[in-house]
Amino acid sequence: MALAAVIAISIVIVALLADKSEKRQDGRVSVIATIFPVYDFVRAVGGDRVTVSMLMPPGTEAHSYEPKPSDIGKLNKAGLFVFMGDDMEPWASDLTAGLGPEGPKVLEAGQGVPVLLLESEEHSHGEGSVEGHGDGNGHDPHIWLDFTNASYIVGRIAEVLSDIDPEGTGYYSANAADYVAKLADLDAAFREAVEGSSTRVIVHGGHYAFGYLANRYGLEYVAAQGFSPDSEPGPKQLMQLMEVIKQTGAKYIFYEELVEPKMAKAISEETGIGMLLLHAGHNVSKQQFESGATFLDLMRGNLENLRIGLGYHGK
Ligand SMILES: [Zn+2]
Repeated sequence: MALAAVIAISIVIVALLADKSEKRQDGRVSVIATIFPVYDFVRAVGGDRVTVSMLMPPGTEAHSYEPKPSDIGKLNKAGLFVFMGDDMEPWASDLTAGLGPEGPKVLEAGQGVPVLLLESEEHSHGEGSVEGHGDGNGHDPHIWLDFTNASYIVGRIAEVLSDIDPEGTGYYSANAADYVAKLADLDAAFREAVEGSSTRVIVHGGHYAFGYLANRYGLEYVAAQGFSPDSEPGPKQLMQLMEVIKQTGAKYIFYEELVEPKMAKAISEETGIGMLLLHAGHNVSKQQFESGATFLDLMRGNLENLRIGLGYHGK
């Protein structure tokens, strides 16, 4: 009986391995990731045991992406499909529902992360920050901007890669541990930057992307728009931000990547305060992508700009 069971199990395992091996390129696990942060985490954890491609072409505005029919074909050729979460890529579950039985393993990397809602009206200074978001459930989709969430996501990616490619388990977990240590260093540096700064307010001329970051370090965060940059902020949002700047004495306004910073520019010209980039990590340009930008580099850039913008004076 026992021997029969072992043989039966072995046959199943061999069948599984055969199935998986078809999804490899040059012996590597073939992965498709939706947006830049998950793409970069897979790259860091998977190293030379995976080939990873980003579903969204660089330079695409992540919130307004609409999957193409050809995406299903791409996915069916992959061994693993990774997306951030249903709040960030609401279309991902529709896409995976269309996959055949031979389709890839699917990982919603951020599943299980405690979801933050949009800050209360009091903190967001009126309805200016809640407009322009499609699904209206109030969930902030930018979970990776809390580095403890990013670490959790990295761990989940290591787990799923180990399931697909058990021989690489030690390799994936070592890479993940190394990456998590870098995220922990960044987290400590952000905390130190905030604690050594004179202001606690981020005034942001872009869409509401930094709720997790603000929550993590005890910052107040005021954004011109809701969760998605597709709505054009109007004069009302401009007046609200100007009022916050007046009240708080903020010396800088932050702007977001990829989108022309009209709001920040208008405010900067009106008030004479400076402009600084705060990168949410989800929209890299083609040029950045091709020159090998990493999530950690982008976040180190944010750290520098936060130090300037919050008036860092050291301990
Ligand atoms: Zn966003």
